[in-house]
Amino acid sequence: MKYIPEKKPIYGESLESLQAYLEQIGQPKFRAKQILDWLYKKRARSWDAMSNLPKPLREQLEIEFEIAPTKRLLAKESADETEKLLLEMGDRSLVETVVIRAPQVGVGQQNSRKTICISTQVGCAYGCKFCASGLAGWKRDLSVGEIVSQLIHVCHLEDATTVRAKEEIASFDNIVVMGMGEPMANYKNLLPALRILNAPWGLNFGARRITISTSGIVPKILELADEPEQFRLAVSLHGATNEVREQIMPINKRYPLEELIPAIRRYGQTKGRMITLEFILIEAINDTFEQAETLIRIALDLNAHVNLIPYNTVPGLDWKRPSITRQDSFYNRLKREGVSATIRREKGHDIAAACGQLKLKTEQKE
Ligand code: SAH
Ligand code: SF4
Repeated sequence: MKYIPEKKPIYGESLESLQAYLEQIGQPKFRAKQILDWLYKKRARSWDAMSNLPKPLREQLEIEFEIAPTKRLLAKESADETEKLLLEMGDRSLVETVVIRAPQVGVGQQNSRKTICISTQVGCAYGCKFCASGLAGWKRDLSVGEIVSQLIHVCHLEDATTVRAKEEIASFDNIVVMGMGEPMANYKNLLPALRILNAPWGLNFGARRITISTSGIVPKILELADEPEQFRLAVSLHGATNEVREQIMPINKRYPLEELIPAIRRYGQTKGRMITLEFILIEAINDTFEQAETLIRIALDLNAHVNLIPYNTVPGLDWKRPSITRQDSFYNRLKREGVSATIRREKGHDIAAACGQLKLKTEQKE
């Protein structure tokens, strides 16, 4: 399905495309920089606020471009400071954006690290058996502007509460592309969106602080490896053998481990960075001794970090998270063998923070 909005989202424009547009309407090129300054540095929320632009130009921009392509429907705050936003797009599609606050030990809330988790598609076509986003299938790709505006939406919310100067770029520390959808399946919009976040005229947000999570679309991992930016890569492994992975991730039939693992290695080698392997722990599926042993071999061989995530139950799906004792013994086995590993006692469980869950709940109620 394709959605063509009435007006183009301004957050989908780059410096070059905006310059080309201005030239075309007989305006000087330097106006592009002024407009982007208003949007990303001063965070103007209306064309009217852009006081150094001539009024006729502001009027023209108003007709041509959408400055508020997302509307907040719902914000849910959980006990652990995770905030989940349900955003409505122009065609009424619902998209989730999550703000995760991790307070630093001994430091006040003011200095806590903030990670923003963004979505790239409405729904997802990859149908992983455990995932809420995959349940209803794929609806459409988000546009460049819709991806960028999730961050801008958070910036606007944060600007209202933070003491930091707006010009000091974004008030968050990391961006993870781990919300709804498979980012690599929307590569054509993902990359320009990340470049806007990265650009000095945009959010000026470092590529090394942006993590892209993929279920393992091998050709796109290889393509991203050849891009100049140092984006971080996280791969949803969730099974250490084809047999187990195939049970829960249909994508494994298309790109089995013998293709995926070399692609991960290649990414790590070209970027000189450690890759993260995500491993959801699901009871009686992948939490066994044998899975841990095979995972250890893969992680050591790739010199990868393993992020263990106890499964977040999804209403309507039967998968369970293992007991804490079982989670710990899996984790300890990895550590004992020298694997760099963390266990994410997931944030926001009480507001359904795993991808696609808040949307699912809201739609079920409707
Ligand atoms: N499509 C991409 C990114 C979005 S999903 C991917 O699959 O990597 C982000 C992460 O959340 C993935 O690791 C995914 O497997 C995980 N996830 C999905 N449903 C989950 C659930 N119910 N509990 C815990 N993690 C989940
Ligand atoms: Fe899609 Fe990722 Fe969910 Fe799999 S885990 S269905 S790839 S969003």
